[in-house]
Amino acid sequence: MTEWQKSNWRAKPRVQMPEYTDAEALSAAEAQLAKYPPLVFAGEARRLKRALGAASRGEAFLLQGGDCAESFEQFSADAIRDTFKVMLQMAMVLTYGAKVPVVKVGRMAGQFAKPRSAPTEVVNGVELPSYRGDIINELAFTPDARIPDPRKMLQAYTQAAATLNLLRAFSTGGYADVHQVHSWTLGFIEGENAERYRDMANRISDTLDFMRAAGVDSDRSHTLQTVDFYTSHESLLLEYEEALCRLDSTSGKWLAGSGHMIWIGDRTRQPDGAHVEFARGVLNPIGLKCGPTTTAEDLKVLMAKLNPENEAGKLTLIARFGAGKVGEHLPRLIKAVQEEGANVVWVCDPMHGNTIKSATGYKTRPFEQVLREVRDFFGVHAAEGTIPGGVHFEMTGLDVTECTGGVRDVTEEDLSDRYHTACDPRLNASQSLELAFLVAEELVK
Ligand code: PEP
Ligand code: MN
Repeated sequence: MTEWQKSNWRAKPRVQMPEYTDAEALSAAEAQLAKYPPLVFAGEARRLKRALGAASRGEAFLLQGGDCAESFEQFSADAIRDTFKVMLQMAMVLTYGAKVPVVKVGRMAGQFAKPRSAPTEVVNGVELPSYRGDIINELAFTPDARIPDPRKMLQAYTQAAATLNLLRAFSTGGYADVHQVHSWTLGFIEGENAERYRDMANRISDTLDFMRAAGVDSDRSHTLQTVDFYTSHESLLLEYEEALCRLDSTSGKWLAGSGHMIWIGDRTRQPDGAHVEFARGVLNPIGLKCGPTTTAEDLKVLMAKLNPENEAGKLTLIARFGAGKVGEHLPRLIKAVQEEGANVVWVCDPMHGNTIKSATGYKTRPFEQVLREVRDFFGVHAAEGTIPGGVHFEMTGLDVTECTGGVRDVTEEDLSDRYHTACDPRLNASQSLELAFLVAEELVK
């Protein structure tokens, strides 16, 4: 294979990317981004890779979550704080269930570009190009708003930098203290219909009390007050990714400087396509979405391309088949992995195979179906003797009404109350934490 270069993807067939019409504005934006500092550093990406290596062996568990699409308009410190907060709560419950460290990775600080099922959409007989995420065009249904504008990459960079700045401060500034995180969880348990989780929450309280009594946390130890929190996004807009690619002087390898982990979506995983070509050359941990149409042959080629040295933690396979379809697809892909002797982290995304249209016209996901896919995933791994390494959710710390069900029972009629997502429906704070309790129950089994 010829030596990898960050621009080689340009010679490969690409899908799901915008056709920019203003070539001058595009090169100006790329040149500007190329001068900016990377958002993440190579040492951090390597540390995440080691943590994911542990997840591949069952010595850690991945929690990846955040918005389907980050939005310029809804950008706020409070929203970032609330999602960070609920992820810490979930991580604590999952740590209790899994009895291993939970690796926390946000779909944040760069999750802007969206693949779409159709290039155009029709509303009331008017056809316009689809919305492709705030880094590309705008959600408003007007011809101007839908024109891809390369300058938006600069705004996305700025927002990602500000988001990371806040996340880094929250991770070390005392906000992440375990006692504080648990007290928030007790608040959830006291709410309506959450009694069934009281028992596990009490056991966590007991453990914390014991640690306090035993003096384990008497020095307000670093481990109990700080967390490692990483960022991730779909590596879809390759002009942005290439412009933020940096050579790591320590290893002489290339870093995708846009986020700690990047993933390849289910629509852009063509083995000879542009997205695989870009991702195969960077040192970051790489995610690969695997849907019902992923063949064993393709998966084998992709594993060889994306993890040629078979490093542990380098490649995460994010399974997203849909409730009731895991049994049909996961075993054949597990077999392909085993035939190659490949090191992978198996992660369950129970969101993207479970999107339906409600009777009231909203795109939604029933909590029951999300849970069912997670349970199917754990069941198949138990039967195959393989390791479920983590979960991947679309979620927010805000009290939105986008997915139905959960202890506060969001109904189809409720969806219109607080439906704010720019793209796919997210679990709200209560549904996210409830799901963490239910996943923890699977892990305890
Ligand atoms: C996503 O994660 O938002 C997404 C589009 O997923 P997939 O590529 O699995 O459809
Ligand atoms: Mn999505």
